[in-house]
Amino acid sequence: MKDILQCQFGCGKRIRHETVEFSDGLKIRVPREEVDNSIHDCPNLPNIDPHELELDGEDGSWRPNTKALAPTEKEDYDEFVEEQGDAWQKESIIKHFEDLNEDFLAIDGLEFKNIRHSVKKNLVKQLDKIPQFFYTINLWGGDEDLPACLQTDAKGYGQFIPAELLGLFYQMDGGIEGLEDAKKCYKILKETGWIKIVGKENQTPSQKIEEMDEWIEDAKQELLIDSDGSLMEPGTYHEVALRKPDVLETKPDDENVKIDNQKLREEIDQFEEEDLHNFILYKFPGTKLIEKLKTLEAFPKKTTLYEKYEEMLKTEKEKSVLEKQGTPLSYLDFGDKNTIMRQMIKISYWYMLTNIKTRRNDLDHADDTPKELKKARQDDEITLNRKTRDEIHLVKNEFERLKNK
Ligand SMILES: [Zn+2]
Repeated sequence: MKDILQCQFGCGKRIRHETVEFSDGLKIRVPREEVDNSIHDCPNLPNIDPHELELDGEDGSWRPNTKALAPTEKEDYDEFVEEQGDAWQKESIIKHFEDLNEDFLAIDGLEFKNIRHSVKKNLVKQLDKIPQFFYTINLWGGDEDLPACLQTDAKGYGQFIPAELLGLFYQMDGGIEGLEDAKKCYKILKETGWIKIVGKENQTPSQKIEEMDEWIEDAKQELLIDSDGSLMEPGTYHEVALRKPDVLETKPDDENVKIDNQKLREEIDQFEEEDLHNFILYKFPGTKLIEKLKTLEAFPKKTTLYEKYEEMLKTEKEKSVLEKQGTPLSYLDFGDKNTIMRQMIKISYWYMLTNIKTRRNDLDHADDTPKELKKARQDDEITLNRKTRDEIHLVKNEFERLKNK
C-alpha cells in the first residue's frame, strides 16, 4: 500500500498518516501534508459548526459544489477515485460532526478514570473515522461541575480541540505513562498552532510540554524513595515497582487479598483522620478554617462546606447522647477534605488524594463477585493496593515538604 495518498476528503492535497500510540493501547492517526509534513487542516472539513459544509449541487460528480467531497480538477478527480474509491458525502460528514457534538453533552464523573477512559475511547474512535485535529469540541457537564482543570469558561463548560482534551485526560490519569501520553498530545496541539493556552491554566502548549517533562522527572525521583522514606540507589526503582507487599510471601490467594484489603482500609482511615486532617488544621488554624469552609462549595454543590458542617452538627445533636468535641473538620468527609485541598497542593498530588478516596470507596462496597471471577482479579486487587499505598506515601511526603516551606 502506498503510504502517501490524496486526502480522503477530496481537497486534492497529498498526505500520509502518522500513527501515535498511547500506553493504554489507544491509537490516533495524524494526517500530515506531503509537502512540509504539517498537520493537515482540510478545507473540506468543518472547524466549528458541522453545517459549515454547503449542501448544494449534484451527487457524485467531479464538478464544484457537489454533494460529495471530491477534487474539482478532472485530473485530481481521476487519481482520487483510483486511490480512494467512493467520495464522502457531505451529509455523512455533517452527521459525523453533529454526533460528535452530542457525545460531549452532559458528561459527569470525569474525575474518575474509567469514565474518562470511555470518553477518551470514543473520541479516539471518532478521530479514527475522520481525523480532524482542527475542530472545536464543546464539553458540557451534566448535573455536576466539570473537574476544575476542564472548566475553561464556566464551571459546567469547557472548550477544547481534540489533542488538547486527550492530553488533559491523560494528564489527569497521571503516572509516568499518563504524563508521557499527555506530552504526545500537547506536541500535536503545539503543531496545530491553533490555541495559545491549554485548558484553563495560563500555559502555552510549549509550557505544558515542559511541565510534563518536569512531572515525569519528579515521578521518577519519587520512585527512588523507599517505603521507609529513605533514598534508594538510583537504578533500583524497577525493583520497587516489582516489590510484593509485605504481607504476601507467595502468590495471593483469596484469604490474603481479603486481609490486605482490610489492612489497607485501616491505613486509608488513618491517613484521612490523622495526616490529611492534621495538615488541613495546620494550614487553617482556629477560626481560619471556618472562614475557608464558607468559601467552598460542598460536592455536589448547592451549599458551602460550612453549611454542610452546621447541618451535620445539628443532626448529631438531635441523635446523639454523647456530645462530641471536635473541629468543624471532624464533621466533614474525605471528599470534603479533598475539596479543601484542591487549591493547596500540586494537581498531581491532588489526583492521588482522589485516587486514595476512590480505593477506599471500592473497599467499602460489599463484593458479590463470583469466586471464579474474584480469583482472576486477585493480582489486580493487590496491585491497586500497592499503588494506593505508594500514593499515600507520596502525599504524606508532600505534606511534610509543604509544612517546612
Ligand atoms: Zn484534505
